[in-house]
Amino acid sequence: MSSLPKVQRSVQINSHGGIEVVKVVTDAPVLNPADNEVLVKNAYAGLNFIDTYFRSGLYPVSSFPYTLGREAEGTIAAVGSSVRNFKVGDKVAYLGVGAQQEYTTLDPLHVAHVPSAIPEGVAAASLLQGLTALTLARESYEIKKGDYILIHAAAGGFGLWLLQIAKVIGAHVIATASSEQKLALAKEHGAEFLINYSTQNWIAEVKKITKDVGGGVAAVFDGVGKDTFDGDLEVVKRKGTVVSLGNASGAVPPLTLTRLSPKNIKLLRPALSAYIAERGEFETYTKEIFDWIIEGKIKVNIHKIYPLKDVAQAQKDLESRGTTGKLVLKI
Ligand code: NDP
Repeated sequence: MSSLPKVQRSVQINSHGGIEVVKVVTDAPVLNPADNEVLVKNAYAGLNFIDTYFRSGLYPVSSFPYTLGREAEGTIAAVGSSVRNFKVGDKVAYLGVGAQQEYTTLDPLHVAHVPSAIPEGVAAASLLQGLTALTLARESYEIKKGDYILIHAAAGGFGLWLLQIAKVIGAHVIATASSEQKLALAKEHGAEFLINYSTQNWIAEVKKITKDVGGGVAAVFDGVGKDTFDGDLEVVKRKGTVVSLGNASGAVPPLTLTRLSPKNIKLLRPALSAYIAERGEFETYTKEIFDWIIEGKIKVNIHKIYPLKDVAQAQKDLESRGTTGKLVLKI
């Protein structure tokens, strides 16, 4: 542990706000792990829409300065005295707070060994969005062969994961996105029906597609939020499920529960963390994600690998809807 630096580069915010509050500082402390913790030297960190929520204040942070980033891959640099399943030098990927910096100290609950067959940078691009897509496809609404389902922002990081998982299961996927280029990518990954929700009336289109197959989709997976939520209630079929999983366009306002009654709609607002709270759950789902990547069932789409210093630009690109797939930071 003696060779570890005392300070490090770290992506931090000191207040909530726009892109301008995102700073890369060079003097953040490197924290030694407690008895039950590990220290990871991060090589790549994933960028996620949630980073923008913590930055803007849509999701509050515990205190400032606050280090951004929720997932990374790297190497175990030190272990606490009671840690048994990790040792210095192990290649790992993890979900945890403060991932966009050189070294992160964390409880190993959500740390996984990365199989050697997974190429560099891919694990950092896979855990958060892949695990979210897989747990939602199993537990929020269990997607079944032959189901018609709707995925909004289908060419985004989460969207491409869920699209491919739904395809493996054998569902009919209706994909929305804001450009023809994004829709072409969604088609390449298995979408059967394509709707440009910037130029088309997506509600009318979904109704048309599902008119003779149940009068609506079995489930909607919606990470767009405010702009699409009302439409979701219209296009889901009787007894169908709306999975509202995010707020890319803003938070969904509070709703009157009786709006669900005419069709007995099931409504969920799931968080990945509550599906993998137990170590066994995390291990099972993570193994499945890694196996699918290795077997080539899932293609991990990396939009761009940005150097850490360009993190603000990366967030700007993500918010401006100019990206597809996953944004990764090289530390
Ligand atoms: P994406 O790569 O999907 O980027 C967000 C996409 O949302 C954009 O590319 C854009 O696609 C679409 N979008 C629609 N309206 C807007 C808008 N006003 N501003 C910006 N983007 C908009 O991001 P992620 O894969 O990181 O996340 C997708 C969603 O999943 C987010 O809502 C995120 O919070 C949620 N999520 C939830 C989790 C959970 O546990 N509940 C875990 C992980 C992700 P287009 O241009 O095609 O409209």
